[in-house]
Amino acid sequence: MRRPKAVHQLTSAQFDAMFPVGDEDACKTYLVARRWPNGVVCPRCGNAKVYKLASGFHWQCEVCAKDGYRFSCIAGTIFENTNKPLRDWFKITHLILTSKKGMSARQLGRYMGFGSVKTAWLMGHKIRTALIEPEIKLGGIVEIDETFVGGKAHNKHADKRDGKPGGTASGKAIVVGAVRRKGNVVARVIENVSAATLDRFVSEAVSNKVSLICTDQWTGYRNLKKAFPHATIDHSRKEYVTGAVHTNTIEGFWSIFKRGVVGTFHNVSKKYLHLYVAEFQFRYNNRFNEDIFGTAIAGC
Ligand SMILES: [Zn+2]
Repeated sequence: MRRPKAVHQLTSAQFDAMFPVGDEDACKTYLVARRWPNGVVCPRCGNAKVYKLASGFHWQCEVCAKDGYRFSCIAGTIFENTNKPLRDWFKITHLILTSKKGMSARQLGRYMGFGSVKTAWLMGHKIRTALIEPEIKLGGIVEIDETFVGGKAHNKHADKRDGKPGGTASGKAIVVGAVRRKGNVVARVIENVSAATLDRFVSEAVSNKVSLICTDQWTGYRNLKKAFPHATIDHSRKEYVTGAVHTNTIEGFWSIFKRGVVGTFHNVSKKYLHLYVAEFQFRYNNRFNEDIFGTAIAGC
């Protein structure tokens, strides 16, 4: 298979040239351009007729407040109420986007020269929140599978559905993913692998116009054939590819995800797992995006 051309990521040198140390205005100018590509609008009411104030990067809206609502370029973003320079936020965003396996709070803190890991941890999580993508509906050939995070590393297919009601695996967090071949992935933390849960996920992530859904033979997928063209692969018979029917693409995504979550972040608490899922989904879905950094900043 021919590989598409490499993704365009800013190098460290390009980043430093665009955002010189201490030059907060360069970051603000960039943020304004990404956040409001069609001109500044009021973050409160959406009014586009705002007045630029003499103090830089501030505007005033006369629509949503009697005496006028003054706002800055960071109003309503994750950068609001922070004592860290915008450049630090940009740098951490860049580090997260350029590391395939992600960066732990410890790594980020060390790189940034922060005294506390907590600061890096909080900033990293705010950025991950900004990377959560709006709803995506997948068409074409879609592969669906789940993976289990935490607990003991037994054989995946032996322990992941241990026969308990709802198919939960004790002590493990569950992530389900759907990927369109050569397209986007949608991944989500779920409570169990029951048919009801999986049906709900599929109805949210997969378009009615999907041409084929490939899964393994887990009974939780038994309802799919009622609504979609559905084919299964029997892993227990060491059957991994039958023509177009395979789940290799989603398995590939899980392997990147697991190397990151297990290798980089170690014990990810279930409470925050959805943020790491969002990070890996964003990087995957923007792997050919010529402007991945700008896309991320626009979402902040
Ligand atoms: Zn307004």
